[in-house]
Amino acid sequence: MDFDLVIRGGTVVTAERSIAADVGIVGETVRAVAAGLGPGQREIDADGLLVLPGGVDSHCHIEQVSSFGILCADDFHSATVSAAFGGTTTVVPFCAQHRSDHIPEVLADYHRRAAEKAVVDYGFHLIVANPDAQTLATDLPAAIDTGIRSFKIFMTYDRMRLHDEQILDVLATARRHGALTMVHAENHGIISWLGGRMVGQGNVAPRYHAVCHTRSSEAEAIQRVIALAEVVDTPILIVHVSTIEGVAAIRAAQARGVKVFGETCPQYLFLTAQDIDRGLEGAMFCCSPPPRDEAAQQACWEGLKDGTLAVYSSDHAPYRYDASGKLPKGEKTTFKEMANGVPGLELRLPLLFTYGVGAGRISLNEFVALTATRHARIYGLAPRKGGIAPGSDADLALWDPERRVEVDAELLHDNTGYTPYAGRSLKGWPVIVLSRGEVLVDQTRAPGQMLGRRGRGRFLARERSDALQPAGRPIDEIARLAAWGTPLVL
Ligand SMILES: [Zn+2]
Repeated sequence: MDFDLVIRGGTVVTAERSIAADVGIVGETVRAVAAGLGPGQREIDADGLLVLPGGVDSHCHIEQVSSFGILCADDFHSATVSAAFGGTTTVVPFCAQHRSDHIPEVLADYHRRAAEKAVVDYGFHLIVANPDAQTLATDLPAAIDTGIRSFKIFMTYDRMRLHDEQILDVLATARRHGALTMVHAENHGIISWLGGRMVGQGNVAPRYHAVCHTRSSEAEAIQRVIALAEVVDTPILIVHVSTIEGVAAIRAAQARGVKVFGETCPQYLFLTAQDIDRGLEGAMFCCSPPPRDEAAQQACWEGLKDGTLAVYSSDHAPYRYDASGKLPKGEKTTFKEMANGVPGLELRLPLLFTYGVGAGRISLNEFVALTATRHARIYGLAPRKGGIAPGSDADLALWDPERRVEVDAELLHDNTGYTPYAGRSLKGWPVIVLSRGEVLVDQTRAPGQMLGRRGRGRFLARERSDALQPAGRPIDEIARLAAWGTPLVL
């Protein structure tokens, strides 16, 4: 036998091309991709199926205490099971430092919990809420040394937000040691001031959430953090971009040579503020930033299409519609008290398949780039993850492009108890999903069953990627310092 496993007769789709080919797997790794491969110990008939790299979700919250101080509804088992059923085989959730937390303990805690429960491979980003001297000099460089090559910072939320000088400190550390900084960019003052006014006037229903998070608050913060990143000349990635103005600000910065990446999520392509405007139940659609309108959806599609937005992630932030999440004070809960976030790990790919590929907005190759390959490249997981080539991990999702699924919360494997996409009719679904050569999901033989063992997922130490390389484009004033022989010491 030439291979342990051969995926035979499918159409292999990568970010670059689509070809009729077999995939030969030895152990956990792809060994060959070509038509007419020799026999395997086992074979999977992929006739009529698309063979895609497993999705990489680089923005999801799992078993994490949020910026609101509430533990999310999924643990590392339910979240990674849900990911696998949706065709995602790598997740990069967050280890979250809260202000009083010691980072080494935070990391050890998340590592322990993930190692016990995850069924797919995972990396970590580190949320930095307290960049004090010890954090900057010791803890962040130590985290990077263990393969945690990205930080996330918040410009809003009382418990998490950093002011501009702290952001500059984190950016300088990221540049010095080789990490990418992800930014939740919203103007804290606008949100908080309007929020106080709304509550003061008795306007507490979920729909007022979308009023407080103005489009201008996103645009202002994106522009400001880009200006900060330019002082340090280090790359940043703006997460969950939701507005016309936000996409435009990133596009303009990229056009003048700034290295800034953008991300958007299903909620900004498929939901609008109207979804929130349905009384208390609107809470199920509340996330930050909030979904906007059709024109903003269109801007996000265009951003994905022209590369302004490099990646499409779930920002899975699952909270149940009960006292544990969305309704801590029952029916009296105001929009300021409910957990922010929507689930999306499992439906991220099927939604984009239907409304992107199926509707002719993007090609299959763009689908793979947006859901897997670019995540792996930017976050230092390529070529091991996000592609199908000799040497890459055999993380594959076999899609039936004709399979129709009516979305219903019952169908999904996360622990949120609802989905904002209930009632939609999707076409195209991952039917067989493999992680490192092992079949985790097989809807043709064992529908609905997770075949992978709890705890089989492995931690991925991430490499320094090209995305971390500074643009080498100092602003005038910093360039002048260098010309004087007194360069800026970061
Ligand atoms: Zn998030």
